[in-house]
Parts: sequence; C-alpha cells; structure tokens
Amino acid sequence: MLVIERARLADPYGTYYERGYVIVRGDRIEAVGAGPAPEPPGAEVIDAEGRLLTPGLVNAHGHLYSTLARGMPLPGFAPRSFREILEGLWWKLDRALTPDDVHISALVGGIWHLRRGVTAIFDHHASPAAIEGSLSLIKRAVADELGMRCDLCYEVTDRGGEEERDLGIEENVRFAREDTEPGRAAAHFGLHASFTLSDESLAKAAEAADSLGLPFHIHLAEGKEDVVDSLQKYGLRVTERLEKFGILREGTLLIHGIHLAQAELELLSGRPASVIHNPRSNMNNAVGAAQVEKMLDKGIQVGLGTDGFGCDMIGELLSASLLAHHASGSPTALGGDKLLALVRHNYALAERFFGVPMGRLAEGYAADLVLWAYRPPTPLSQDNLLYHLMFANISEGLCPHTVIGAGRVLLSQGAVQVVDEQEILAKAREAAAALWKRI
Ligand SMILES: [Zn+2]
Repeated sequence: MLVIERARLADPYGTYYERGYVIVRGDRIEAVGAGPAPEPPGAEVIDAEGRLLTPGLVNAHGHLYSTLARGMPLPGFAPRSFREILEGLWWKLDRALTPDDVHISALVGGIWHLRRGVTAIFDHHASPAAIEGSLSLIKRAVADELGMRCDLCYEVTDRGGEEERDLGIEENVRFAREDTEPGRAAAHFGLHASFTLSDESLAKAAEAADSLGLPFHIHLAEGKEDVVDSLQKYGLRVTERLEKFGILREGTLLIHGIHLAQAELELLSGRPASVIHNPRSNMNNAVGAAQVEKMLDKGIQVGLGTDGFGCDMIGELLSASLLAHHASGSPTALGGDKLLALVRHNYALAERFFGVPMGRLAEGYAADLVLWAYRPPTPLSQDNLLYHLMFANISEGLCPHTVIGAGRVLLSQGAVQVVDEQEILAKAREAAAALWKRI
C-alpha cells in the first residue's frame, strides 16, 4: 500500500483538492480525500510537500523506433516533400534496425516518456529487417522493464514487397494472440498508410484483423501524396477507401487526418473511429493543419499524440492550441473545452484498450499518477489545470518529481527507479553509432 499525502490533487474531470491524499492499493486508487491522510500501518508514505498530483498522461500515437535518430547526420538531405522525408530519413532508419536496436530504442523512448509524465503509449512500429518478434521486444522494454502500459502494432506496408508485407501481418496477429496482457500490453492492427498499401494488401490485413476482432492504427491523409495516390489509383478519397475495407471501426486510430474533404469529415462523423492529432510533427513536416475544431464540432472523436516527435504531451497540447490559432487566424480557436476534450479522449482510449478506468483521481481508477515538481505561483482550481500545466511547461519547465505506473513507483525525485538509466543510455549511444554507420 502506498500513501501520497500533502498533495495538491487535480484531474481533467474536475477533481480538485488544495491539500489532500491518495491511497494506492495494488494497481488501483483505493481512496482520495481532502486534508491529512489516514495513514494505514505499514504503508509506504510519499510526502508531496504541496506539489501537484495528476493522473499519468497518455500518448495516443508514437514511434518508439525513431529514438536513435537524435543527432543523426544526413549529408545532402534536403527533402522537398513529405514523401522525400519518409524515403530519405525514416524508411532508411527503420530498415537498418536490428532486434537489439528495437529493444534499446523502446527503452530509451520509454524513459523519455516517463520523464514527461506519460505512463501509457500507443505505439506504431516499423523495423522491416527485424519484423518477427519486434512487438514483443517493445513490450519487454516498455511494460516489463519500465512498468508502463503499451498498446502495440506493426505497420503493414507494400514498400518492401509481399514477403515483408506478410511478415508484418503475421507479427500483428502473433502479438495480439500470444503476447497481450490485460492492463499492461494491448494490440491494434497496424497499417502504414493508404498510399503504401494495395487493395489486395488491405483486404488481406482486414481479413486477419477481423479474425481477431482488432481495430486498426493507420496514418490518414498526412501528406497530399496519400490523397493523390488514392484518387488516381482507386477514384476514392482516402477515408472512403478505408471505409470500403471496414477500417473506420470502433477503436481504430486514424493518425493526422489533415487533407480531408468535407465529405470525409461527414463520413467520419458517423463512424466510431478516432482521429489522433499530432501538431508538432505536422508543423515540422510542413504537411498542414488538421481541422480539429471542425472535427470536434461534428462529433468526431479526436485524441492527441506526438508521432515520435518528442514525448511531451503537455507541449503537444499547447502546440495544438497554437497551431489552431495560427492556421485559423483566430486567437480563440480550439479553446479550453476543446483541449480538455483531446486530453479526455486519450484517457477514454487508454481505458478501452487497457481495461482499467483511467484519467480520474477517484476510487477504483488506475494508480497511474504523476507528482509534478510544481507549486503554482497563481491560484489553481478545477477550471484552469491545463493552463497551469501548459504554461509551466513553456516557462520554467515542467517535469515529474515522482511517477507511479499501475501502483508502482517508476520514477522518484526525478530518478528512474526500475532500470539503470545510465547503463541504458551508454548502450543506446553504442547502438546508435553502429546504426548510423549502416545507413
Ligand atoms: Zn506516425
């Protein structure tokens, strides 16, 4: 049993205590209250000393395989389009990954997420020269070694030929069947994007996903290339093409959704799939801005991810606001209630796939908690939590003091508790140097 006392408690559903406590038993919150904690005998006690305690954050779209790209030299790399970014950088990097690289990338990326208060990740993986077993290596790093929750899939694509495509399908099936674990490791069926998948491949993938009742995790209309390819080859907008294969099903994660026509927004508004917005990645790749406000107004479910561009979900949230202001010319675009909707949808997805109530500081909810190294300089209340987090993040910096994942202390006083971080970083530097030489 674990007691966190003398904390300022807040969650995105309106829970707020100026001074209170949380009692954790097993992987769940047992009690939450105001004032001093009733200290059960034998409990481990964490004195929050007035710091802010919130639920752990969720990243609804990441690429842990991209970790070792930090600082990689790319002589002559001057992409003129999104496709050239993929071909000149990501498709070279992922093809050079070995099984050891997949594991160390996930460990380092997982640690970075912990250091940003993220306790659950939906990852989209590619390692074409090391497909078989790759999802289990990520699970070993993220769930077994770091104690976080992960939802994994392999990006099926035609870009490496039929044999690789089929290995990708098999890896999704194998992982979903053999290696998922309730509450810790879940599965989607991964597809890269419409423009790298033929009708035959989509049909094959859909058949495999149907046999397991799995929803999909796929990039949607991220670059204009995706739209042009679908219109030219199939005479359909990308969303219409995915609809034809039953991909817009409940639980499906459609990543980006930038170049969507009005008819596609209408189609999505009648489907239970989610769109995941990744504003910083979109700005970096210069691919445009998703119409998030319009999507939410139409009742489309929208969550938030990083797309492997860092792990800072609070920074991503502020970037969603800034991008909406910039793209619309309105400083009130994507206001506080809409930002809250993005955060809450991430918790809804985590709850759906990990099977544990998430996102609230309340009895029975997941004991995924972040004690931020933060004491507010202005009044904090149930109405302004996100603004405190976003502006602390861009002014003085916002980092966790303690992170608890499924009831276990994973990070304490800013130090990772569950693995030897220095040893992992040293191994990662070696692996990255060797990887860069192979590219
Ligand atoms: Zn992505």
